[in-house]
Amino acid sequence: MVSLQLEGRTVLVTGAGQGQGAAEARLLVEAGARVIATDLAADMPAGLGGLSSASGGALMYRRLDVSDASGWSALASWMQSRGWQVDGLVNNAGITQRSRLLDATVADLQRVYEVNVAGSLLGIQSLAPLMVGGASIVNVGSVAGLTAHYPVAYTASKWALRGLSQVAAMELGPRGIRVNTVHPGFIETPMTSGARPEFRQATLAETPLGRTGSVEEVAGGVLFLLSPLSSFVTGAEIPVDGGQSSHGGAKSVSDALR
Ligand code: NAD
Repeated sequence: MVSLQLEGRTVLVTGAGQGQGAAEARLLVEAGARVIATDLAADMPAGLGGLSSASGGALMYRRLDVSDASGWSALASWMQSRGWQVDGLVNNAGITQRSRLLDATVADLQRVYEVNVAGSLLGIQSLAPLMVGGASIVNVGSVAGLTAHYPVAYTASKWALRGLSQVAAMELGPRGIRVNTVHPGFIETPMTSGARPEFRQATLAETPLGRTGSVEEVAGGVLFLLSPLSSFVTGAEIPVDGGQSSHGGAKSVSDALR
């Protein structure tokens, strides 16, 4: 039966301590998956405690800095030692960096690339060997990776992640492993809680649905891409952004003429 259920499947989520990653971990447990939630903290973050589901899902927490290759290989060995194949990987961990074009330093660029791009590459390299046909990788991009979003290092990293995703979809496709990307718009999380009112207002003006998104709405897109319902979808990019990236700037023109 084709369904959104993930019973018997093992899925690893990075950056799952809060925000979108925590919501993804929660929804995947609800869908019946065995979820390995990972983040920088040594102990399981409070928001992830006590999760279980009627459909047999369960959550385990492991510390993982996604930019640390040895951490990834230790995690892969740990999963292997338990005899678990990996059915899903969500490369969600990401950091932002707000410097603009003429102020951004090489160090700024390196810092975001290390997490947003290299972290995802390491995840794919470490876990693809434990995957078999039917496995699914979801990379978390951003509308920044579809547009000229002003924080240049962050934007460049998310455009780079798109390239990584497409290569991975091509290279892993013959093994039956799918690789797709979701591009969140403005989602209410700790990352965006400090956004200036001007940023919030300007973003809403560019968003046809006229509101920000919730972490559950991104998690829904991730669940779809991990599930057998998307079994013929690979190399795809799904904006979860209220339409923000869909109009190529035409919204302000349309609004001006109302
Ligand atoms: P968040 O800051 O609320 O959570 C990110 C999590 O990643 C944190 O728990 C953090 O500890 C973890 N993390 C950071 N560096 C890490 C590392 N080196 N190794 C492991 N974990 C690390 O962010 P969020 O808003 O939930 O964002 C999740 C993803 O969605 C990111 O990739 C982000 O770029 C992307 N995104 C967010 C938005 C938004 O509006 N919130 C929009 C577009 C894209």
